[in-house]
Amino acid sequence: MVLTSQELLQRHEATLSGFTPIPFFSEMTPDQLCRMLIITCADPRCIPENIFGLKTGEAVVLRDAGGNAQFLLEHILSIDSLVQFTECIIVQHTDCGATHFRNQLVKQGLRERAPDHKKEIDGMTFGEITGSLDDNVKKSIAFLRENALVSDAIKENIRGFVFDIKTGELKEVEA
Ligand SMILES: [Zn+2]
Repeated sequence: MVLTSQELLQRHEATLSGFTPIPFFSEMTPDQLCRMLIITCADPRCIPENIFGLKTGEAVVLRDAGGNAQFLLEHILSIDSLVQFTECIIVQHTDCGATHFRNQLVKQGLRERAPDHKKEIDGMTFGEITGSLDDNVKKSIAFLRENALVSDAIKENIRGFVFDIKTGELKEVEA
């Protein structure tokens, strides 16, 4: 059955009786700030909260198509200015949707939908993964390490992984 927004609202309603208030920034001491950044794919089969048993407030999770750090730079920098990350992991996964779509095909569909926007569409990139997953993880790590705007604390503490959606195992990618 396809999940609907109405179903989500009903599920949310059911959570309210057990809801615990979450502290504002103004109520947190520095040691309560989240220092862990997780960059991963938007794929609904790759859920970092489940993979790592995350609790509220433990990690900032940024997700995009493919789990490519390159598309998340502004988000990383703005949140880092608030919390100063000291840990960063990148998790990509087997059978990623980004290994199935192709930038050119996405663009082709968009040109048909909006022919007047050809220039804008030509300049877009969608994070397709054409090589190995290991290499794609390395690409994200290298992007962060080589970017002058990214903090040293992040650069020195990045680890990369491939999550196997069949076995649940995480394989570390040395980079
Ligand atoms: Zn994916």
